[in-house]
Amino acid sequence: PATACGDAPGATLFGAARRVAVLLPVPVDAPYDYAVPPEMEPVAPGDLVRVPLGKRIETGVVWGEGAADVPETKLRPILERLDVPPMPAPLRDLIDWCAAYTLAPLGQVLRMALSVPEALDPPKPRTGYTARVADLSETTLRATDARRKVLEAARAWPSSEPPPAAADLARRAGVGATVVRGLAEGGALAPVPVVEEPEITAPDPHRAGPALSPDQARAADVLRAAARGGFSVTLLEGVTGSGKTEVYFEAVAETLARGRQVLVLLPEIALTARWPERFRDRFGAPPAPWHSDMPRAQRRDIWRAVAFGRVSVVVGARSALFLPFPDLGLIIIDEEHDGAFKQEDGVPYNARDMAVVRGRAGAHAVVMASATPSLETVLNARAGRYAFVPLPRRHGGAALPAIETLDLRAHPPEKWQRQGMLAPSFLAPPLLDAMDATIRRGEQVLLFLNRRGYAPLTLCRACGHRMQCPNCSAWLVEHRHRRLLQCHHCDYRMPLPETCPACGTADALAPCGPGVERVAEEVASRFPTARLVVAASDTLLGPTAAAELMERIEQGAVDIVIGTQVMAKGHHFPLLTLVGVVDADLGLSGGDLRAAERTFQLLHQVSGRAGRAERPGRVLVQTADPEHPVMRALVSGDAETFLAVEAETRQAVMMPPFGRLVALVVSGLDERAVIEAGKALARSAPRAADVEVLGPAPAPLAVLRRQHRHRLLLKAARSVRVQPLVRDWLAAVKLPPGVRVKVDVDPYGF
Ligand code: ADP
Ligand code: ZN
Repeated sequence: PATACGDAPGATLFGAARRVAVLLPVPVDAPYDYAVPPEMEPVAPGDLVRVPLGKRIETGVVWGEGAADVPETKLRPILERLDVPPMPAPLRDLIDWCAAYTLAPLGQVLRMALSVPEALDPPKPRTGYTARVADLSETTLRATDARRKVLEAARAWPSSEPPPAAADLARRAGVGATVVRGLAEGGALAPVPVVEEPEITAPDPHRAGPALSPDQARAADVLRAAARGGFSVTLLEGVTGSGKTEVYFEAVAETLARGRQVLVLLPEIALTARWPERFRDRFGAPPAPWHSDMPRAQRRDIWRAVAFGRVSVVVGARSALFLPFPDLGLIIIDEEHDGAFKQEDGVPYNARDMAVVRGRAGAHAVVMASATPSLETVLNARAGRYAFVPLPRRHGGAALPAIETLDLRAHPPEKWQRQGMLAPSFLAPPLLDAMDATIRRGEQVLLFLNRRGYAPLTLCRACGHRMQCPNCSAWLVEHRHRRLLQCHHCDYRMPLPETCPACGTADALAPCGPGVERVAEEVASRFPTARLVVAASDTLLGPTAAAELMERIEQGAVDIVIGTQVMAKGHHFPLLTLVGVVDADLGLSGGDLRAAERTFQLLHQVSGRAGRAERPGRVLVQTADPEHPVMRALVSGDAETFLAVEAETRQAVMMPPFGRLVALVVSGLDERAVIEAGKALARSAPRAADVEVLGPAPAPLAVLRRQHRHRLLLKAARSVRVQPLVRDWLAAVKLPPGVRVKVDVDPYGF
């Protein structure tokens, strides 16, 4: 006879029990076998279950039939099958695929899909009240006016609505909530448990969108057809303002009309913008958001709503890809080129690439949109693996901004008076003139500098000492309005010292180079009557503050915005006609594979903020190297030539996307042990045709959070399957205690 689940896992009952493999969200490479108590059947792949693991109880997912040769007597039973829909097969496929590709433990990938474990618990019921009697005379309660009103309200409560809480009922009757409880105690009202899931309004796919231009209509037709078909990937490429969003909304409408769900992935930063509002305007209801900054309770609600199929559209950051959509029909990846889709911590995956895997597994369309698609995606489109849909023109005939470089060698910025002393300037005279003219016309200026804080380096004028992070090989960045020095890698903070910590000289520490705050200081002095605002991730606290600021800018309440990349994307400011790029060369230094591509994408995107409506825009790009291919491509608008040169350069050295790349970062507190481990890895590096191992060498951040970091790079031809090579390689090297290796397949920026 079967014992109750949760009893001691006896051997007695499982003689003939079926066994299944259950994957747990812990760092393991494979599922474990468990026995299915016969009365729990049918148990099928995807079912969420609770099982014993050591002395704990864990929640996992049935992954398939049990196979391992665990003796029957050792097999432990599944304790409970949870009352949530099974994890859909395409999501399980994605998890398998993602683990195999990134070499992350399978259970660790599952963990991303079960990121809010409390979402698996049934919602806690609240107490509602229904009338138990027709009249108070049926009880021993004295019939007061207040009591009569409450009983009446309870009897009149529409049966289509869940029974009201005490407060709701009291409000309806116009009395205090204690009256309700008194009536319940006296037997006039019955308390009933009510389980409520938050109400979700469905977007309406049949609302009319804007009238599309012929270009847009053609593009929308292609996307709608893709949304009706099976698996496909389409690149929608169009300059900023060409209407990519309006066009892919048509594919969203098509998918919703067919009763399937839609996922829109945006780079984290773009979620603060007006996207959800635009969606609501188009479809009459907001999309469900999903990103890491959301309150846990909200994430719980949305996870459940997705799992139960009550949500039809999610707009989210990369982790939304691991939500349990029961019938996903379309994924859109907006700003497909954005580095934010690559996760660096935990499982290092690129959501853009994994979206394609999810689309194939679910047999539905994937659409990538960008004004500056990545080289990978462009090559995929050229090779015919992705369909290509261009949107060549800005909507409504708005002109693209005129982009000019401003050669800093020919136009050196002139020092200005700061508290009676000459201070360095970061703005060349022609830019200052253009700013002046723009403000006089009542238009707006955006100065773009992708650097938070006041100055990236603080240096002692007496001894040359540089203020460095004690935990990282990085300079401390001055944040003047908060009067502190801060590490942008580990968040170490210290007050700005009065004297140099090395030589003790007073007042000798000086800022070096500009951050947005320092540019703002100069602008405030040169344009004393202009209304300024600094927009950076540390000055905009939260999505609400960001949205408010964007609205103020849109309404013309600001003259000059000095912003980092939070200002680069998605916004549409009708009065903004001048963009000044303070330091276009900033991202180009260093040996990063994607430095040029990324700089081009970012600067192109920022330029797109200028002149989107009737007023033409102008972009001035300050650079010390106007002949650089990135600057030339920006000015000419010729992304094609730029990408061709990029492609050639990378092909010559067999770098991605022409070759494969895997980074191995060895880290630990003890530098000597890290170096030794790096050398040991190099000694047993795989020797195979078309495979090359470089390093070890200090990683770009050689010390991070006190961890020393050395790196090896495995480079291989595209035809090589690198995962088995790397797996065998790691298995062959025994690491000393305290040293770990992080594998990053397709590292993004390095
Ligand atoms: P992109 O995503 O390519 O930058 P958007 O879809 O954001 O372009 O469109 C830019 C602006 O033009 C938006 O304000 C959008 O509402 C407007 N727009 C685009 N297409 C149309 C259209 N067919 N009718 C009306 N407004 C449009
Ligand atoms: Zn640090």
